Amino acid sequence: MKQNSLIDFNRPYMTGKELFYIAEAHFNGKLAGDGPFTNRCHAWLEKSLNCPKVLLTHSCTAALEMAALILDVKPFDEIIMPSFTFVSTANAFVLRGGAPVFVDIREDTLNIDERKIEEAITPKTKAIVPVHYAGVGCEMDTIMSLARANGLAVVEDAAQALLSRYKGQYLGTFGEIGTISFHETKNIISGEGGAITLNEAALTSMAEVFREKGTDRSRFFRGEVDKYTWQTLGSSFLPGELIAAFLWAQLEEAQSIIARRKKIWNTYHELLEPLEKRGILRRPIIPPECDHNAHIYYILLASSLDRDRVIASLRSDGVQSVFHYVPLHSSPGGRKYGRAVGSLGLTDSLASRLLRLPLWVGLKEEDQERVRDSLAKL
Ligand SMILES: *Cc1c(COP(=O)(O)O)cnc(C)c1O
Repeated sequence: MKQNSLIDFNRPYMTGKELFYIAEAHFNGKLAGDGPFTNRCHAWLEKSLNCPKVLLTHSCTAALEMAALILDVKPFDEIIMPSFTFVSTANAFVLRGGAPVFVDIREDTLNIDERKIEEAITPKTKAIVPVHYAGVGCEMDTIMSLARANGLAVVEDAAQALLSRYKGQYLGTFGEIGTISFHETKNIISGEGGAITLNEAALTSMAEVFREKGTDRSRFFRGEVDKYTWQTLGSSFLPGELIAAFLWAQLEEAQSIIARRKKIWNTYHELLEPLEKRGILRRPIIPPECDHNAHIYYILLASSLDRDRVIASLRSDGVQSVFHYVPLHSSPGGRKYGRAVGSLGLTDSLASRLLRLPLWVGLKEEDQERVRDSLAKL
């Protein structure tokens, strides 16, 4: 019986301290945003990422919406991004009237193909949004020099990439802005949650205003002004203290959570090597300049295999596996608001062959062997 128990695709990991910190926040009697726990999270993220300014948001989606406000995206401004990403990468800019321009991805990392960005640049291009899929860095040197040469901003969608590095530097600290997610499905979680990284001092005060309903309340709290007033556009993008208290418990153990995920990731990589040799799947490829955070272990099925059948077959062996993005350029929203440049052939084929395997803190090696055994039957 036990042998056939279901291996979940994901189980949120909790350190055990979350409720204690939530109780502390409760007794602090400070429940709105930017209290003691939020400040601790900010300081931790700034120090750990070596980033001048980080602000918590209620989601990565909110951080992306803030980025669109900070960049003053206007109707018909074009934003270059991969089609192989989550809807929020595009939606945040579409909300401001911007138009996503989709380019193809690289076959090795499934990240935006930096060699295809230049042909997508027009006089209307405002920004490039590289998405670090599975926590593996995009080719940031090339992307940053392209952006500099063309006067474009870079917003890194680092939703999945907390504490991952490219050439030793943390992802989310290359572009003017980076965005991080603490959604339940990510490595470090607070249920819903996120953060925005601001890598240029000039952006910080703008970001604070947009995040606080378009007011200068942040300056008021610091005693820099004697009252706060409506300044400009804005919304409420900050989480309350209960969320920050939960997140603090997670951040304290972030390094060990990632180390444990990495061990599981590496075990899959070893277990599946013979299946790759047999030609039934391809394992993830990590460029030597990238140090990743083991956010996802995916496989790319041989094109001869039918993914739905593979999912069903794994399922009958008690293994839950899931596919990922439906490419945005082929979705109703993407067709309505965006356009593709060049062929998106790799996006289409890789997205349709991709399968994510169970990966969560606590997953046992024997469970991973069961996943391997089930895949070996294909
Ligand atoms: C998860 C994710 C988001 C959205 O994060 P939320 O915190 O749920 O808003 C955005 N982009 C990418 C690439 C993601 O993986």
